Amino acid sequence: MKLYNTLTRRKEDFVPLEEGKVSMYVCGPTVYNYIHIGNARPMIVFDTVRRYLEYKGYDVNYVSNFTDVDDKIIKKSVEEGVSAEEISRRYIKECQKDMADMNVKPATTHPLATQEIGGMLDMIGTLIEKGYAYAAEDGTVYYRTRNFKGYGKLSGKNIDDLEAGHRDIQVSGDLKEDPLDFVLWKPKKEGEPYWESPWCEGRPGWHIECSVMAKKYLGNEIDIHAGGEDLIFPHHENEIAQSEAANGTQFAKYWMHNAFLNIDNKKMSKSLGNFFTVREIGEKYDLQVLRFFMLSAHYRSPLNFSADLMEAAKSGLDRIVTAAENLKRLSAHAADGAMTDAERELYTQSEQFVEKFEAAMDDDFNTADAVSAVFELVKFCNTNASAEHTKVYLDALSARLAQLCDVLGIITEKEEEVLDEEIEALIAERQAARKAKDFARADAIRDQLSGMGIILKDTREGVTWKRA
Ligand code: AMP
Ligand code: ZN
Repeated sequence: MKLYNTLTRRKEDFVPLEEGKVSMYVCGPTVYNYIHIGNARPMIVFDTVRRYLEYKGYDVNYVSNFTDVDDKIIKKSVEEGVSAEEISRRYIKECQKDMADMNVKPATTHPLATQEIGGMLDMIGTLIEKGYAYAAEDGTVYYRTRNFKGYGKLSGKNIDDLEAGHRDIQVSGDLKEDPLDFVLWKPKKEGEPYWESPWCEGRPGWHIECSVMAKKYLGNEIDIHAGGEDLIFPHHENEIAQSEAANGTQFAKYWMHNAFLNIDNKKMSKSLGNFFTVREIGEKYDLQVLRFFMLSAHYRSPLNFSADLMEAAKSGLDRIVTAAENLKRLSAHAADGAMTDAERELYTQSEQFVEKFEAAMDDDFNTADAVSAVFELVKFCNTNASAEHTKVYLDALSARLAQLCDVLGIITEKEEEVLDEEIEALIAERQAARKAKDFARADAIRDQLSGMGIILKDTREGVTWKRA
């Protein structure tokens, strides 16, 4: 299996650090509003990467954070006259609902930045001790960028060019030693959330969060680090500088970045105001359609959002679901007994579509070609399944189609069965949160489940649930 590594700028064979296991960190959203469909692209793309790795037999430890302390969250909380925590909790809940509707699996761990401050203080302390960071007079802690020899290796930027660019914009009164230095910890402003630290009452910079959460949940060295391509510089470059300097080892072996979702060939973003929220699209379409639309392009190609492409995705998805339903319907009335020789021959023939699917996915997760392989299998099923066939043959075709769809996160089964899985996963996540004494998170999950009409009951045997 090959994947494109931003760090080396080429497709490489995927060899995990530990056989059979994959550790993967995906930068998550800043939670101050509903997510837009641009934010949904990395969620869908890297969930599909995860699903394919699991299909290949890897045990995937998938970590994706929520950035729940940030200027934009604070601004929103001031506007609404509520706490920053209330804002972030609300939008984490809404984001998790959108993710479930897009059939994005919950991560193994979804850490929250505000719950990981201790680890951040530790890492910043280590960086100061090693000479990679310093506290300025006002208590701001900066990373001493020039001390990290590999700075620029991910983005391909040259440190001297960067310095020339920065010199013009250096703010007077800045307490940095060098304009390239970036913030690890900053003093609070009046009314802002803050934490005690050896340097000042304040809060962390954005970059340090991810270095710390990756280290805590995945270790010093991880297999895959991913996010949207706008994160390459400076966010991921700074994560590398922090993690490698603090831990003394390579941070991520492979770096994956998705291209943008555009609208009228411009990046869809909150700041440009040219966005649709996932919720808005969900009013018009089943969000499976949005997922299928995203997978119709290669993740490293820009994708332009349009009504026409969404309609095409809708009819494509319908074709797949209809074929799956047709197989189920035929199977319900089909004859029992073993596969005939002719059926066995047909079933063997259908394997070529699985091979095509795998070849596409093995080639840097080419979901566009993988979807074509699924369409070929659909066509094969439509041609070679009828009321004359045995149940065992029809079920085997059905399972083959469902398996490929499942890798893409496309649901062909009845909704209720999938919903059960989602509920179980949320319950497991809540149990883990309680064990980790993260009661805020545990309560948030209970609220989310109750919003879905699920009632939990704690019994001596464990947690049971029922629908309201
Ligand atoms: P943010 O909340 O802005 O930090 O974004 C969360 C994730 O969404 C990051 O991985 C971004 O790179 C990604 N992202 C934001 N806008 C887009 C877009 N228009 N297309 C693709 N990815 C995006
Ligand atoms: Zn990050």
